[in-house]
Amino acid sequence: MKEQKTRVIVVTSGKGGVGKTTLTANIGMSLARLGQRVVLLDADIGLRNLDLLLGLEKRIVFTAMDVFNENCTLEQALVKDKTYSNLSLLAISKTRQRYNISRSSMTMLVDSLQERNYNFILIDCPAGIDIGFLNAISPASEAILITTPEITAIRDADRVIGLLEANNLFDNKLIINRVRTDMIKGNNMLAINDVQDLLGIPLLGVIPEDNQVIVATNRGKPLVSRKRLTLSGLAMENAAQRLLGMDEALINLETPYKSPLQFAKNFLMNK
Ligand code: ADP
Ligand code: MG
Repeated sequence: MKEQKTRVIVVTSGKGGVGKTTLTANIGMSLARLGQRVVLLDADIGLRNLDLLLGLEKRIVFTAMDVFNENCTLEQALVKDKTYSNLSLLAISKTRQRYNISRSSMTMLVDSLQERNYNFILIDCPAGIDIGFLNAISPASEAILITTPEITAIRDADRVIGLLEANNLFDNKLIINRVRTDMIKGNNMLAINDVQDLLGIPLLGVIPEDNQVIVATNRGKPLVSRKRLTLSGLAMENAAQRLLGMDEALINLETPYKSPLQFAKNFLMNK
């Protein structure tokens, strides 16, 4: 077997709209902040918006389809982030025509990226479990499954775990997004442990509900790029650190700061 230096991770979910694109952008940027060379691959053909979240929509001239059609080189299709030059975005296609990339083309593309010594390739997967999903997961060796703590999202996530395993993806981790500790306390939301018990895969992160996520989306600046991180930003960074194996402990959303010093640093950074 070929030694794989690049970690190829698909970010997926059962239900749509649970935060795949948001978390792909923020975890990717966190990894870049931690010094990793990262490519974000927008495989959500037709609904692509990773470019908008990163504020890079005007910079996309070429896509992977142009690389296949020999209109440009792979380097020309890779759009560098404005702040972190070790973070790049690659869109598969500009058109709304779906399924215009085959599984073998997807694998070829990821192979070429792997030759360029990236540490991480994060694939933002389309919603649903049809051919677009199967193509997006095909080159990955790991998956991050996003769910919210709602029973409908959890049920769909459970089906996706089955599909991932059926496609030989067994290194799967869970992120629970849009968590509200006030609702959990009032017994109006499933607790973190309950969601994890239902799905039975390791927990990578928990991200709170935060209006700032929407503000950041509209500004085209991911939350984790801010100097002073909100709780949701800290939680996204925590997930990225855990993905790197740096930080073993899962963030506690009620006491997120590990030490008074860390709290003070976060508080003072923007002054
Ligand atoms: P997906 O890619 O799974 O379809 P998105 O990342 O586009 O989902 O997110 C769907 C919507 O939910 C967006 O409007 C986004 O801003 C919002 N959202 C995602 N995560 C959070 C959060 N933790 N708090 C508040 N809003 C969120
Ligand atoms: Mg999306």
